[in-house]
This record gives sequence, structure tokens and C-alpha cells, in this order.
Amino acid sequence: MEKSYSKNLKSASLILMANFAYPRLFEPLDLKFTRLKNRVMMGSMHTGLEDHSRNLNVLKDYFVERSKGGVGLIVTGGYSPNWLGKVSPFAASFNTKSVARAHQELTTAVHQAKAYDGTGAKICLQLLHAGRYSYHPFLVAPSRIKSPITPFTPFKLPAFLVEKTIHDFANAAQLAQQAGYDGVEIMGSEGYLIHQFLAARTNHRSDQWGGTFAHRMKFPIEIVKAIRKRVGNEWIIIFRISLLDLVEGGSTPQETVALALELEKAGVTFFNSGIGWHEARIPTIATVVPPGAFASVTADFRKNVNLPVVATNRINHPGLAESILEKGQADLISMARPFLADPHFVNKAARNAASEINTCIACNQACLDHIFVAKKATCMVNPQAAEENIWAQRKFSATSENTSQRKKTKKVAILGSGPAGLSAAFHAADLGHDVTVFERSGDIGGQFTLASLVPGKSDYAETIRYYREQLRIRGVQLLLNTLLPTNPASLKEKLQGFDAVVVATGVKPRDPKIEGQNLPQVYAYDQFLKKKIKPGKEILIIGTGGIGVDVATTILDSHHESPNAIQDFMNHWGIDPSKRSGLNPDFKPVLNPIQITLLQRSEGSIGKGLGKTTGWIHRLDLKRMGVRVISKVKYKKIVPEGLILEREDGRTEMLRADQIILCAGQESVNEYESILKEIGIPHWVIGGAKFAGELDAKRAIREGMEVAYQISELVPELVPEGN
Ligand code: NAP
Ligand code: SF4
Repeated sequence: MEKSYSKNLKSASLILMANFAYPRLFEPLDLKFTRLKNRVMMGSMHTGLEDHSRNLNVLKDYFVERSKGGVGLIVTGGYSPNWLGKVSPFAASFNTKSVARAHQELTTAVHQAKAYDGTGAKICLQLLHAGRYSYHPFLVAPSRIKSPITPFTPFKLPAFLVEKTIHDFANAAQLAQQAGYDGVEIMGSEGYLIHQFLAARTNHRSDQWGGTFAHRMKFPIEIVKAIRKRVGNEWIIIFRISLLDLVEGGSTPQETVALALELEKAGVTFFNSGIGWHEARIPTIATVVPPGAFASVTADFRKNVNLPVVATNRINHPGLAESILEKGQADLISMARPFLADPHFVNKAARNAASEINTCIACNQACLDHIFVAKKATCMVNPQAAEENIWAQRKFSATSENTSQRKKTKKVAILGSGPAGLSAAFHAADLGHDVTVFERSGDIGGQFTLASLVPGKSDYAETIRYYREQLRIRGVQLLLNTLLPTNPASLKEKLQGFDAVVVATGVKPRDPKIEGQNLPQVYAYDQFLKKKIKPGKEILIIGTGGIGVDVATTILDSHHESPNAIQDFMNHWGIDPSKRSGLNPDFKPVLNPIQITLLQRSEGSIGKGLGKTTGWIHRLDLKRMGVRVISKVKYKKIVPEGLILEREDGRTEMLRADQIILCAGQESVNEYESILKEIGIPHWVIGGAKFAGELDAKRAIREGMEVAYQISELVPELVPEGN
């Protein structure tokens, strides 16, 4: 179908955009009554800041930073149009004049920010009614059917409340307009209320709001009509439409297109792609999803509608975004988490400096995993995300030209260049210190280099690339293959002239001290991953933490390295976009011929340290592929044929194995702390070197940042350890 909305602009603007390395990304989008300056939308992402009016200023700073960073259009986190639709009792709603007034300062500040082109972003408010996904006892839905991921059974909305809800959407949109927003995004996907009306799975009504698809789609259509009537024709209405439901009882592609064509008539400005209900047991945004996995689904939809369409999910690089636009798969690219990781993503793409982008690695560890436990979202690779106000002020104090505020430049030594050391080096240099990194191995990266070898985690290498580039730009001296002496006098001599030392020497695999562990078929996990050992037929993994799970995944994975990674991912999870709900009705998981057994001394599920939003994926996947878990064991002895262990009931058993991989956790590597204390150099110990148990990269990277501010005397903990 020929699109008319951007045709006029195309040739002129492409000439203008020719200076950009990503010309399509920087092509304006003409919406007739308004224009988006580029094709990048910051997709809706709940941060938790929305939920308390006292955080409105922090939220403003958060959005302003992204507006300064060059994004064309921001969509806020979800606001309910009424209190029944709140995600949780204390979640945000947008239904009073006072709320609208309070947001005026935010929208003005976003509009006034200046990015690469001297202008700010547009901003839309997302309207989200959670329906049966609400975490409060007064939740409502089209029918009284409990969701599998929430504790409460919803009340069925009576017809008059259905009409009242439509009115509430229109009212909220009008308030958003009064607050200075450029439009709204209506959340019509991911299994929330509107989606619950659309799907036969959750809508068992027999009145005018249920029954056939034509009746079930009346609810969103009436919402769009009601909003358009209130806000006039020259205001953005985005509809997030589900292109793949990934649960039984969803829509066919034909029904989705029929809905879209009706929504166009009702007054939608453009469509955003929704992929999967929250209750779907298929990953849609986690690391295991190949980048750009769902762009072709958006492309198929786009062929059948008349309005611009946004591509979403696992797009984290300007090159990928450009290629999606170039292929005509979408008109706009939505990224949410990538703007937590790097607010200035678009500015950097604009000046052809993609290598400086702090890439979102889709770990979910500090964003979605936080939201699921009611903590404010931030970002593992950018711990300043959603705390911009605090850190900007601290950095200003450190680097201000005003001499009374400016802190002294120090000479800082960082020992170790894993995530903790890299973060410390970057932030210390960013605060103006003179930084030297001492690394005993031949390259930087530490545990992230190992992680990047796990299938589906290759993006972890992006974080190393980011730090490498940032250290280069900031003139950090990187001394590789440099092992500092452990003799106090020699160390003192080597560190002569340094004002502060950060010990970030990381971890080493824990020695489980099992008799026979030196046999040749026994590997420490790091050796197994680094040497890319060819797996045998029967494998025992000792330890079921994140690394045991990663190693099992590495052995079983057959699709991530493939040139057809996206199709292989779809086949692996039973996705068929041409079928109802996007599910292949004949799907059967393929059992892997390698027999893997994960062993633990404790009981309970495997991968205990993994996050809420990703742990289930690994557990489900390994189970489907026939991986066995044996708990409550005592390790006796490793012999050439396998492992002798004692079972819970006291039986001794020999498990045959071609290979045994030790994934028994880590121990700190920290040989310098006591010597530094002895020789009296101010020092800090961070990351795995400080504490190996429950170490995760989120803590390591955050500690790296905090220590840099401590060295600059900008955070309260001013006294370094050991002084
Ligand atoms: P971990 O999560 O602490 O797990 C260690 C495993 O080793 C446990 O299953 C433990 O089980 C076993 N173990 C401990 N001491 C042992 C001993 N002396 N002998 C035999 N077995 C022993 O450590 P990890 O798997 O090395 O992971 C390290 C950190 O990285 C964790 O925080 C993890 O969450 C994180 N990580 C995260 C991801 C991710 O994708 N988010 C991936 C990998 C790692 P028993 O004590 O029951 O035997
Ligand atoms: Fe991306 Fe992980 Fe940061 Fe979330 S925490 S924004 S997934 S890098």
C-alpha cells in the first residue's frame, strides 16, 4: 500500500539527511498537522517515578535528559485513566485537573530542551488500563477470569462501567492535552484491559462488547472515537496494537488488520507494534531474543494499513534501526530500555559516533526486574538512569569552573578491568581525574568477556566496547598484561604518586574441593566457555546458579550462532506469525540429544539468582530440552567414568559423564587490600573483590560509579576502607 504521509518530504529531506550516517533515522516524519524531527521514539517504559507526585521533578529531569539526547518522540510510562485501572494501588492515574497542571512544567521542559538539532522532543502520555493485570483487589475485566500472573480474580465490568471507562480514557486524553502533551498512546496490547476485550481468551461476554470479533473490537474503537472527539484532529493518538499475542485465544493477522483499519477510521495517527501478552511463556524482549526479531512481523502488518507503523522489541543499535527503516519494515523505531542505558543514543548516532553508545544488553536486571519488585527502575550499564538529577549535580560540583566548588584532580589507579574496574575508571576519568588501569590479562572485560561467550549474550561485548571507547576518549592509561607485585615495598614503588587506588580484581571460580576434580574430563566453567570445548553425550554440571544455567544453555543452544538466528528463534519457541496468536499449532519442542544433569546440594529451583523477568525463560527452556536437575546431593568423588554422589535418601550412586563442569560459584580475588593498608595508600575495594557471594554485574558497575564519586568527595562515604 502506498503511504502518503511522508511522500512529499521524502526526496528533499533525504538530500538534507545525506550528511547523517543513518539518513533514514534522521528523516522527519510528516504527520500532516505536525512533524516528528526523526524516526526515533522512546517507547513507554514504567520507571516507578510516575507513581508518586513527589517524584515528578525527577521524572522531568529523566525525560529532559532524553529530549536533550535527541529522541524525536517520547512516550511516558503508563497512566491509568481511572483508579480501577491502576497497575497497583499506588500506581499512577491521570484523571484530575491538578495532575494535569502538575505535568505542565514537565512537558514544557521536554519541549524546550535542545538536542543535536537545537530542538527538543515531542512527548505523548501513555494511557494504560491494566484490567485483570492490576495488582489490587478491585480489579476489573471484560469477564471474571483470573490471569495466571496476578493473585486476584477480576470483577466483570458491567455495561455502564464499560461506557464510563471509555469516557475516562477520553477525559484523561483531554487532561493530557491541557498538560501540554503532544498526544497519547493507547495501550491496546500486552494483555492489558483493551487487549482483554479483543481476545476470545478473556472476553466471554454476550452483550454488545463481546461475542464476535466485530463486537469485541468495539471497545478500543469507541475509545479512539471518544478521544478524537475531545482533542480535535490535530493531536497525536498512537494505538499500540498487538501483532502477535503468543497465547492461546488471541487474534489472527486478518483480525488484527481489520481492527487497524477500523481504528484508522476512528482517528488514530499511527500504530505502535505490541508483541506478546505478559502472561505468554515465550520470550519477547530478553537477551535470548535476537535483535530485530519482530521487525518482519511489523513489516507484514504495515503492508496492510495506511498509517505509519512503529517497530519495537530488541532494537538497540542505530545500524539495526536504520536497516529496518531502509527495508521499509517500519516508519518509526521505538526503543525503551536503550534510552535508560544511554539517554544520548540519538545525538551520538547523529554525529556518527555509534561506538560511543552505551548499548542496552537486554538483561532486564535493573529495569524490569526492579519494577516487578516495586523498586524504581534504573539500568545495569548506566546506574545514573532515572537518577539524573542527583548525579548531574554531583558531577557539576566536581567539574565546575567555579574554583570554590571544583574538587581536586587526583591520580587514580584502578586494579582490574572487569565491569567494576571499567565503571570506576570511566567515572573517575569523567570527573576529571587522571586514571591508570592495571590489568593482569591481555584484555579488558573480566566476567563480561565470559558472559559474551554465552549464546544470546553476545551484546555483553557491547558494554566492553563502550568502556573501551570511553576510556580512550578520556585518555585513561590502560596497562594490559601488567601484574602488580605483591611485595609491599615493590607495590609502594609502583604506585608512587597515586592519590587513590581502587581494587577491582574480581573473582575466580570457587574450588569445590571434590576428590578427583583434577581428572582431564573436569573443567572449570571459565575454561569450558573460553576454550569452546566440544560437548560429549552425557554432561554433569556441578552448581545450578546463573553460571550453571548459562553453561547448560551454551551446550544446548543451536540457534544463536546461526545465520538464520531469527527464524531459528521462532522455530525454537513455536512462533508462526501467520497463525492465530502467532503460535504454530503443531509445535513440539525438540529434545536435545545431549543429556545434561544439573546438580545442587540445596533444594529449590535452579538459577535462583536470576531475575524475575528472565529466570523463567532459562528454567522453561532447559526443562523443555530435557535437562535433568538433581537436588540435595553430596559429592563424594569424581572418577574417570563419572561422579559418585550420595542422594537425599543416603544411597550412593555413580552418574556417568563424558564431562563434568564446575559451576560452584566464585571467590574474591583480593590480594592487594591488606598490602595497601600496610603501605598506607588510600584505597577502596569494589565488586567481586569486595564480596563474591551473590555478586552480579549490577552491583559491580554501580560500585564502580560510586567509588569514583567517593574519590571526588562527592558522596557521603568519604572515608576509604582501611584508613
Ligand atoms: P551462584 O549463583 O552463587 O551459584 C553457585 C552454585 O554453586 C550454587 O548452585 C551452589 O549450589 C553451588 N555451590 C556453591 N558452593 C559449592 C561448593 N563448595 N561445592 C559445590 N557446589 C557449590 O554463582 P554463579 O552461578 O557462579 O553466578 C554468579 C553470579 O552471577 C550470581 O549472582 C548470578 O546470579 C550471576 N549471574 C547472572 C546471570 C544472568 O543472566 N542474570 C547469569 C550468570 C550469572 P549448592 O550450594 O546448592 O550446591
Ligand atoms: Fe537494558 Fe539491562 Fe539497562 Fe535494562 S538494565 S536498560 S535491560 S542494560
